[in-house]
Amino acid sequence: MPKKKGSDIFCSFCSRPRSEAPQLISSPAGVFICSDCVKLCNNMIAGNETGDGQISKTVSQSTIPELLVPKPTEMKKILDEYVVGQDFVKKVLSVAVHNHYKRLQHMRETQADKILFNDDVEIEKSNILLIGPTGSGKTLLARILAKTLDVPFAIADATTLTEAGYVGEDVENIVLRLVQSAEYNIERAQVGIIYIDEIDKISKKSENVSITRDVSGEGVQQALLKILEGAVTNVPPKGGRKHPHQEYLQVDTSNILFICAGAYVGLDKVVQRRLGKRLLGFHSDLDKEEEKSLAAFSKDKKDILREVQPEDLLKFGLIPEFIGRLPIFGVLNELTEKDLISILTDTKNAIIKQYQRLFAMENVELSFTAGALKALAQKAIKRGTGARGLRSILEATMLEIMFEIPSRNDISACTINERVINNNAKPTLKKINKKVSNVA
Ligand code: ADP
Repeated sequence: MPKKKGSDIFCSFCSRPRSEAPQLISSPAGVFICSDCVKLCNNMIAGNETGDGQISKTVSQSTIPELLVPKPTEMKKILDEYVVGQDFVKKVLSVAVHNHYKRLQHMRETQADKILFNDDVEIEKSNILLIGPTGSGKTLLARILAKTLDVPFAIADATTLTEAGYVGEDVENIVLRLVQSAEYNIERAQVGIIYIDEIDKISKKSENVSITRDVSGEGVQQALLKILEGAVTNVPPKGGRKHPHQEYLQVDTSNILFICAGAYVGLDKVVQRRLGKRLLGFHSDLDKEEEKSLAAFSKDKKDILREVQPEDLLKFGLIPEFIGRLPIFGVLNELTEKDLISILTDTKNAIIKQYQRLFAMENVELSFTAGALKALAQKAIKRGTGARGLRSILEATMLEIMFEIPSRNDISACTINERVINNNAKPTLKKINKKVSNVA
């Protein structure tokens, strides 16, 4: 029977209307199928699913696509081109990602479900937890890893998730995003990378034991456990809430690499306390003393965080089973003024290079004085949003001049100094007849 509801046409397989389905193909009998369902059928025919419609529990060799597995040193070199500083975490990620994909590559080649050598050693998947302040490069690192490996990549925000059945998003929608990023190629999605941000915000709310369910804290952690570890997940193809009688895409998450990230403000203090660096005593001014001792150690904050242990994260409300599924920790440092200047000018996609390219299109040479770069970095540090603040500060600074330049054809160069950044002064413009002026 043709799938028509009202005047619109629907995919006969997933029931999505024309407006939501990518492309609908009609049969002579008036039945419609969308291109997503065609892809899914192809996967089924290729043996991805068993006869009864259930996906086979183990991912067979044929379902692991060919993968690029750069060596850790090569991976780090690529990360260095885009990401400033964070040397240690780059090494951690390069090794973790290399091992993860080497394991998959091996599975592909040996046609085994798991890597079993003669001694029965099974290499388990190792998901990663990134800890670092906002705007320090956590998402950027994950994004570049996925781009370099040429695997699908999806970003999710843990704070939007809730336990199934409550207002908010089901955790399966995270997997759906990866499937969408793989253009509904389930095989490719199954070896992708999922980045879950704000993981520190789904802490268990201990005060909340019996009266109300902790649907956005522990409930979400419990729901995430299954997909982090690896399970065949029923993903609603259209997203939204799961409901009975719905058709699902079945995605095995065993080989998906999960990178979870959070700022964990105050974690250094927790670690430091555990390390026994706290001043002990029964004085009422203990807190002041403690602050002083912490200040003395603040220089070594990054070293302290490297000592992080699962028990420290327990104090942040992560349940032990959840921490257990994130065995690799990477700690990112707060970016310094020097790092921020380097981000502005040195990386492959440096923001200043992007502005210079825009100005070059108008035949104007754009330059920033050393003082301007320093002022930009200092302003960003004051905002406390790491490198993320740089672009918005620059956008605000450059607005007037970018508004004007395209309608002027007498300017050959534009220089930004620290007064432009700090006092909204006008940039120094050089006219084509070589006269330098401060008047726009
Ligand atoms: P977060 O740590 O909060 O995930 P992001 O990775 O999203 O931060 O960083 C935001 C933006 O800031 C990035 O898109 C990038 O342009 C810039 N950035 C942050 N950290 C770095 C870094 N270490 N090197 C280069 N650029 C960076």
